[in-house]
Amino acid sequence: MERTLSSPEAPLGAGERPPVPFFDQSETFQELWPDIRENCLRVMDDGKFSHGSMVAEFESRLAEWTGARHVVGVNSGTDALVLLLKAAGLRPGEGVIVPAYTFIATASAVVLAGGVPVFADIEEHGYGIDPRSVRAVATERTRMVMPVHLFDRLADMDGVHAVARQHGLTVLEDSAEAIGMRLRGVHAGLLGLGGVLSFFPSKTLGAVGDAGALLTDDDAVAETAASLRHHGRSGRTVGHFPGIANPTVVPGCNSKMDDLQAAVLLAKLAVLDTGIDRRARLSAHYDRRLRPVPGVRAVPGDTPPHPGGGRTVYVHLVEVDERDALAAHLAGAGIGTETYYPLPLHLQPCFAYLGHVPGDFPRAERACRSALALPLHPDMTEEQVDRVCDAVEDFYSGRRR
Ligand SMILES: *Cc1c(COP(=O)(O)O)cnc(C)c1O
Repeated sequence: MERTLSSPEAPLGAGERPPVPFFDQSETFQELWPDIRENCLRVMDDGKFSHGSMVAEFESRLAEWTGARHVVGVNSGTDALVLLLKAAGLRPGEGVIVPAYTFIATASAVVLAGGVPVFADIEEHGYGIDPRSVRAVATERTRMVMPVHLFDRLADMDGVHAVARQHGLTVLEDSAEAIGMRLRGVHAGLLGLGGVLSFFPSKTLGAVGDAGALLTDDDAVAETAASLRHHGRSGRTVGHFPGIANPTVVPGCNSKMDDLQAAVLLAKLAVLDTGIDRRARLSAHYDRRLRPVPGVRAVPGDTPPHPGGGRTVYVHLVEVDERDALAAHLAGAGIGTETYYPLPLHLQPCFAYLGHVPGDFPRAERACRSALALPLHPDMTEEQVDRVCDAVEDFYSGRRR
């Protein structure tokens, strides 16, 4: 038998059901394989594997898709954050207000860019930074605020902007998870001075390794970030600016994007809208099935997805009782889950020097204790969602096997 990209490792025994992986994109790859292959061959022929014309093509296509004036392709979402903070003018020792509940990279990027993370709590009904908490922690040492758009919705950007204006804070966004999320038609990452996207494989638009991008409408931020990603060389060497190897004016990094990643991303961008719609439908199905289950609480402040209306469900999150026991029960049934995020950032050992103690940000701590992400990806079927929901029901009805 010819080996296909999605052929299972081993045949299943009688009565055995295939596992439901937390994330899988083998069918998508199978479907897109002719386009991916063609793009990859173009890179091979071109012979420029880093920072070449495929990267430039992906940048301009993504700029069209998001409406960004500039897209700067880089090697990860994390480096995009570091470059964004530096390009936005963060100076050593200045504070950047970030939520205590987010992926670690939000705050470590601040440190890597020379700044100090200043934590704020999240909203009571949602996972975005709470503008009132931002106001409470702002001082004359804080220079920026960087809300994070987690899972399936935007942070309260109007509320953040109102506080930022009062305190003279620059607004950046960790929009790493937020491709396809828009506020009044404006894409995430363009609601302040700039934002980022991550193309980590399991993200909504995933590469086959690490990749990321910076989004901004600001010419100077784009110019500086483009220079920093390439050893601080002045002038963009891909995109709209012609290739010139000018002398280095600031020490930069090597944060360039690989052309083979761009080749895959370019092919996947063509089916991104379909994938986003599919995610919304699967997530709505989870909601219908799990709403009546005791022990499961819908995401705080939950509103139904509106397909095509500026919401992307990157992760289907639920808050549950006995979270870790449920995750173990699901694992036993062959169902993958992830804990987003197990430890609030103010209690991470690497930020112990900031002197926080448990209880400082109670909402962030609550989310860390009870949030669980269920499998969700465009290759999934409604039957697989049903299997996950059956197993969750079994757990809470005492029919644990
Ligand atoms: C994924 C993610 C990042 C980091 O992106 P990488 O591409 O993995 O470096 C940063 N912030 C948030 C909120 C993320 O979800």
